[in-house]
Amino acid sequence: MSESFDVIIVGGGPAGLAAGLYAARMNLRSVLLERGPLGGQLLNTELIEDYPGFDSILGADLAVKMGDHAQKFGLDIREFQPVKEIDVDPDGRKVVRLDDGSEFVAPAVIMAAGGLPRRLGVPGELELAGRGVSYCAVCDGAFFKNQVLAVVGGGDAALEEGDFLTRYASKVYIIHRRDQFRAQPVLQDRARSNPKIEFILNAQVKEIVGDEHVQRITYVQGGEAKELEVGGVFVFIGFIPNSSILRPHAEHEPEGYLVTDRNMETSVPGVWAVGDVRAQLTKQIATAVGDGTTAAVAALQYVDQIRDKERAAAVSITEEPGWFFNLT
Ligand code: NAP
Repeated sequence: MSESFDVIIVGGGPAGLAAGLYAARMNLRSVLLERGPLGGQLLNTELIEDYPGFDSILGADLAVKMGDHAQKFGLDIREFQPVKEIDVDPDGRKVVRLDDGSEFVAPAVIMAAGGLPRRLGVPGELELAGRGVSYCAVCDGAFFKNQVLAVVGGGDAALEEGDFLTRYASKVYIIHRRDQFRAQPVLQDRARSNPKIEFILNAQVKEIVGDEHVQRITYVQGGEAKELEVGGVFVFIGFIPNSSILRPHAEHEPEGYLVTDRNMETSVPGVWAVGDVRAQLTKQIATAVGDGTTAAVAALQYVDQIRDKERAAAVSITEEPGWFFNLT
C-alpha cells in the first residue's frame, strides 16, 4: 500500500513543522511523518528563552503550538511513524518506507529528521540506560528528587539541562573533558551562579557503576583515577544526525550532517535537509524554522516544474493521432 503526496516531510521538530506549515499553506499535498510525538529537540528543552516573540515558553508548549498551527493549514501529521528509509526510484520519485512496511511516494522530500543523542561508550552506560542513565532532563529529571547527579558534557545542552536538573537534585556535578566550555556564555554564567552546581573539568568518564541502578561514576582527572557517588548520570555530549535513512548517496560531512545549497537542497535533486540533520553553524529553533521555510518554498517550485513537464508530455500525447482523452 502506498500513499501519494506532493511533499513528504520526515521529522516533526521545529524545522519539519515550519516546512509543513508553509507547504500546506501553499496548497501542496503534504504529509509529515514523525517517529515519536511532535516536537523533536523541543521536547528535550525545558524552557526556551531565545525564540523571537516568546519571552519564555516551555519546549513542550511550543511543540504543541507549532503542530496546531501547521494542522490549521491542512498539514497531514502522522505521529509514531518511524521512517526506515528514503529511496529514489528510476523516475526520480521519492519513496519513503516506514518500519511497519507502508510506503509514501512524492516528487519532493524534506528531511527534518534531526539526530539521536551521542553515547559516551563507557562500560555501564548501555546496561544502566533507563536505570539512572538518561539523555533527557525534562523526561527523567523528576525521578531524581534530592539526589546527587552527574551531567556529562560542556555544550549548551549540558549546561542548560544541568541547571534545569537542580530543580530536583540536591547537587549536580557537570563533568567536562576540557576546561573550556562550548556552551554560550549566558548559560555558563547561569550554571556558575547556581550554588547546587559544581564543575569537574579536564575529566574523562571511564565507567558508570551500579547493580540495579546507577551508584557511582568513575573518571580520570590529571592522570588520577577518581569516583563520585551519584544517583543518576545525564549524558549531553551532542548527537548524531539521522541522515543514514537517505539511501542514495548525498554529500555530507564526516559526522553525517547533510550538505545543502542555499535553498536547503541536498546533492540528491528533490531532497531537502533542514534543521539539525543539516551541516550548519548553529542548531537553534529560529534557524530550524528558517531552514524549513526555505525548503518548503523551494519544494513548491520543484513540484510545479515537474507537474508542468508532466502536463506538457500529456498534451503532446493527446496531439498524436489516435489519442483522445481529456486532461484535468
Ligand atoms: P555540542 O554543542 O556538540 O556539545 C557537545 C559537548 O559534549 C562538548 O562540550 C564536547 O566536548 C562534549 N563531548 C563530545 N563528545 C564527548 C565524549 N565522547 N566524551 C565527553 N564529552 C564529549 O552538543 P549539545 O550541547 O548537545 O548541543 C547540540 C546543538 O544544539 C548545539 O548547536 C547547541 O547550540 C544546540 N542547543 C542549543 C540550546 C539553546 O540555545 N538553548 C540548548 C541545547 C542545545 P568538547 O567541547 O571538548 O568538544
